[in-house]
Amino acid sequence: MTERLWTGSMMARRTVVVATANKNKVRELKALFEDLPLELVSVASLTNRRIEVVEDGDTFEENARKKARGYAAALAMPALADDSGLEVDALNGDPGVRSARYAGEDVTDADNTKKLLHNLAALGDSVGPRTARFRCVLTLFDPTQPDRLVEGTGACEGFIAPAPRGQGGFGYDPVFLVRDVPGDRTMAELSEEEKNVVSHRARAALDLRQRLREWLGMSKPRG
Ligand code: IMP
Repeated sequence: MTERLWTGSMMARRTVVVATANKNKVRELKALFEDLPLELVSVASLTNRRIEVVEDGDTFEENARKKARGYAAALAMPALADDSGLEVDALNGDPGVRSARYAGEDVTDADNTKKLLHNLAALGDSVGPRTARFRCVLTLFDPTQPDRLVEGTGACEGFIAPAPRGQGGFGYDPVFLVRDVPGDRTMAELSEEEKNVVSHRARAALDLRQRLREWLGMSKPRG
């Protein structure tokens, strides 16, 4: 048998299921953590079963924790959940935790975007600069360490555009003008690499990174 030296760089990869049916989120999260010894896998690659978690929390944190726990329990393995959404100031923070279902159950991204633009237009000129932000909470739940919280949060500031623009991304990306990028561009007009620097998900991933490294055994927990 060949003897192997086990070094940090050869650290075993941990398999974690991404607790979502949204392929875009899976792709973005894989890119954001590609340098870590982490095998992020989709639910579809593990089972044909549909895993139902009711997202009835009042906050992104509540929903992310619920999803991470639900998928981890159903699949008996660590699960990473993303709960995210758009908050529009003139709409008192709507669509918020209901971002995916703003126009109703089983609607398309275009339906949600249309309703958002319609509701903003209905407010007339009193709205001002149409400020908004995407928020994201990432929660990893490990069934063998149920009391450990491995979580990160992030936000991306911007404005709601007058009409959809761009072909990239998903969800509300075509109507979200990103504040911190050069040019007057919507999130859907950024390359995937650019989105993965400024997005709420990228910022949540950065916030999560140290706790994730500790969970992976790459660094010691900070006191
Ligand atoms: P969730 O799956 O319950 O977290 O719902 C997230 C919803 O928020 C999505 O369906 C989108 O409508 C919206 N959303 C979250 N992240 C993004 C993003 O990166 N771009 C555009 N829309 C997003």
